[in-house]
Amino acid sequence: MNEHQRHVKARQDILKGGTAEKRIFVHMEDLEEKKKREEEIKIEREKKNDRMDALKEAKMPWFCPECNKVMKQKLDDKMYRLHNQCFDCQVRFENKLRIEGKYDEWEQKKMLNNQLSYIRDQIDSIEDWKDEASNPFEVFDSVGIKEVELKKEKWTQNKEQVEKMSEEALEGLNKIKEEVEEKLNSFAI
Ligand SMILES: [Zn+2]
Repeated sequence: MNEHQRHVKARQDILKGGTAEKRIFVHMEDLEEKKKREEEIKIEREKKNDRMDALKEAKMPWFCPECNKVMKQKLDDKMYRLHNQCFDCQVRFENKLRIEGKYDEWEQKKMLNNQLSYIRDQIDSIEDWKDEASNPFEVFDSVGIKEVELKKEKWTQNKEQVEKMSEEALEGLNKIKEEVEEKLNSFAI
């Protein structure tokens, strides 16, 4: 018996005055899909945390990979985390850019890339939220058909609202994303 047939049978049983199966499992396939997705999100989150921990724990190497100077200052540590070289090397690098008249462009690119990764994070979190909200119930405790229908109605309204809100938010974010990408592309030419 598939899910639909089970539903039909439960309805018939109740209409006949009998008792239906105690619990009607609704959207079985969605449920499996959801579980799979949750598992994926969990793994992804763990990976992210691992990366963060690795970054936090990653000790600054003894020597700057650029100039081989011993790195020991706090400034070196901060620069190394941001730019993978010591403070002096970064200053030298930025000075060179200034002399070549490329500094503003480099700085703007850096800023735009930061914006882009922020927007991407926002888009991801909205999509996660939408996924979660689209399946808030897993099992209907079926006391009577009426109650099931009521819950279904409530859920449908909620889902529509979430979809409308996330659609609007995503539209806005994607527009900004396109603008930022366009600006970045204009540098590449
Ligand atoms: Zn260096």
